[in-house]
Amino acid sequence: MSYPNLLAELDLGFTRLRNRVVMGSMHTGMEDRFWNYPKLAAYFRERAKGGVGLIVTGGISPNRQGWLLPFGGTLNSVFDLRNHRLVTDAVHAEGGKIALQILHAGRYGYQPFVVSASAIKSPISKFKPRALTTAGVARTVRDYARCARLAQRAGYDGVEIMGSEGYLLNQFLCPRTNRRTDRYGGSIENRLRLAREIVERVRAVCGRDFIIVYRLSLIDLVEGGNTWDETVQVARALEAAGVTLFNTGIGWHEARVPTIVTSVPRAAFAALSKRLKAAVNVPVIVSNRINTPELAESLLADGAGDLVSMARPLLADPEFVAKAAGSRAHEINTCIACNQACLDHTFKNQRASCLVNPRAGHETELVYRPLAAGQPVRSVAVVGAGPAGLSAATVAASRGHRVTLFEAHPQIGGQFNLAMRVPGKEEFSETIRYFQSQLQRHHVDVRLATRVDSAMLAAGAYDDVIVATGIVPRRPAIAGIDGPNVLSYVDVLRGAPVGARVAVIGAGGIGFDVSEFLLHRAGEPLPMPRDAWLDEWGVDLSVSERGGLKTPAPVQAARQIWLLQRKAGKLGMGLGKTSGWVHRATLARHGVTMLGDVSYREIGERGLKIARAGVEEWLEVDTIVVCAGQESLRELLPQAASATASASAGAPERPVPGGPRYHVIGGAKVATELDAKRAIREGAELAAAL
Ligand code: FAD
Ligand code: NAP
Ligand code: SF4
Repeated sequence: MSYPNLLAELDLGFTRLRNRVVMGSMHTGMEDRFWNYPKLAAYFRERAKGGVGLIVTGGISPNRQGWLLPFGGTLNSVFDLRNHRLVTDAVHAEGGKIALQILHAGRYGYQPFVVSASAIKSPISKFKPRALTTAGVARTVRDYARCARLAQRAGYDGVEIMGSEGYLLNQFLCPRTNRRTDRYGGSIENRLRLAREIVERVRAVCGRDFIIVYRLSLIDLVEGGNTWDETVQVARALEAAGVTLFNTGIGWHEARVPTIVTSVPRAAFAALSKRLKAAVNVPVIVSNRINTPELAESLLADGAGDLVSMARPLLADPEFVAKAAGSRAHEINTCIACNQACLDHTFKNQRASCLVNPRAGHETELVYRPLAAGQPVRSVAVVGAGPAGLSAATVAASRGHRVTLFEAHPQIGGQFNLAMRVPGKEEFSETIRYFQSQLQRHHVDVRLATRVDSAMLAAGAYDDVIVATGIVPRRPAIAGIDGPNVLSYVDVLRGAPVGARVAVIGAGGIGFDVSEFLLHRAGEPLPMPRDAWLDEWGVDLSVSERGGLKTPAPVQAARQIWLLQRKAGKLGMGLGKTSGWVHRATLARHGVTMLGDVSYREIGERGLKIARAGVEEWLEVDTIVVCAGQESLRELLPQAASATASASAGAPERPVPGGPRYHVIGGAKVATELDAKRAIREGAELAAAL
């Protein structure tokens, strides 16, 4: 497929963008510390080299009050320019363009200096803001202008003014958070005054030939948000004030509607960008859950926008654009919208990376160097084609090693073949497709349906054996566990018949996923169609009422489910910050009973007998599904290596003098707290060092 719309230049009059791909703003954590700017420059350089038209940086505050976190990235002095020039020079050297995002967090700031339109605390920060005085508002306008002018001096091609997701400018725009009685509160004309003055002042100090992107909230998804008519009024005022491009923002961070997790249908909100495009005369950037060039192209062809913003997809694959342009789209490492290594890291104050691409944010540290002249090519056996083995095999082969990959099943992917059957996780199949393309590209010798034993390894005369055999599901010692009414999650996800009343033992990620799988009715379309999803979450794309919310459609669960764990407290606390609440809300809406502090007594024909607070009861269920964690499968490891692996994180071991070195990665190494992020990273790190 070719991508004529996506790859077309955009002439902005004073400058040209080489294509319609915008790398959306993504906080990496590196922008907050000056010593990380060389790493940040390398991160952006790779994306510019990969062909992105316009990059937008992570949010930088115009002043101390606007910090998201204490000592967050700020651009308010000439002393900051040197660091930023590292970034702009790196991007320009690769022919790219870059805008600095100016983000004032307002009441979302997790620090004591927070300010907002009014003194109303947000539900997601413990700090109550102080209402800005009228003079304070004027100072804030000046701070934005100073920040933009400094950005221009640092070589940025423009700025993006962050006006969505519930940050300061949203807080002024909406009655939810703006109760002011001065000229910045009350009518929509007054509420938009701050945003308008900022755009006017930035335009005045930076001149005509400077990109001003305004990220506008098209649907707030909170009570007391704006209506569509108000949003259009804001857009027109900002266009008149000097905006070059509008970017799309969807939902405030405190909204209880998911907007970017993997279960959100692709391009679910694109219709709003299309409506905005019809209402303004400057180009519009469409965004949210767009992760393939095919989808991006079709949205542009359909007039949903003039450009497409993708943030996470460019973490996942910096060569996204180059691959699309070079007829290699099937090789794109697609973002699966899991948030596990990007947004979940950000919320934990860790550097953002990517589950499917562990080099993201670590470009200078995790380097896949081709073998140098004279460096010996090693013969490498990788056992297990799950995420860990696939990562190790493809990276080792890409560097020039000779790799044979063994897999007991007739297909690659390991547990991802199960994960992709969970409703809302269909995207996980993209990772398998990506690895398949890399196995071919780097000529890995793949032996499917081949269960390896020690004799095969000994006969193979390998230099290195990488044991990536994964896990086996744990079978807890409960009386009756071998009964006919007990299934493991593997059986269930492979399609074993399950009754109408079900108890799920274990409420980790897999217990939640299996519950969602069982709520789904046979024959219901997957992935869920957009309109059905919008109805289920109560989203009204007409935005005729404030915030675009409506009463969620009633749901009918396919089964009655009890989800159980032994720990006391709320279930799902180990799930990701950005996705756990979505899973909990989904199960709650479908009437799943979630019980903690449970002891399992026995399983019988009646179902599952449990005890809570010393009181025993029978859960009268037809089927018991075991999701009680996993244990490492490491039978291929020679004894000595096995001992070393558990003691020192899988250090290579050569049990037979002159024989292969053994390595162990992924679930085979440690099953506890295993996830695909660790599995893929371990495979890549090992292979980079071979
Ligand atoms: P595996 O994926 O288990 O792969 C091991 C492979 O080795 C298997 O294919 C097996 O057949 C093969 N093998 C074993 N022995 C031999 C042998 N002797 N010879 C040849 N081949 C052999 N993780 C996340 O991070 N996020 C999620 O959202 C997520 N969701 C999940 C949902 C479900 C339903 C499940 C089941 C898992 C999910 N996971 C998720 C977990 C993730 O899939 C695992 O952490 C990951 O697959 C572990 O990778 P691995 O390569 O170590 O092991
Ligand atoms: P897990 O998260 O470790 O959960 C295992 C569950 O089993 C826990 O609820 C545990 O709770 C219970 N359990 C453990 N030992 C038990 C025993 N002996 N008897 C009864 N119950 C027992 O593991 P998982 O759900 O198998 O998931 C595997 C990995 O895949 C996870 O580490 C996770 O990161 C990853 N994953 C992630 C996602 C995601 O959305 N991010 C989704 C799926 C999987 P109690 O001990 O309290 O009973
Ligand atoms: Fe996408 Fe997950 Fe990577 Fe984030 S961690 S960029 S959501 S694949």
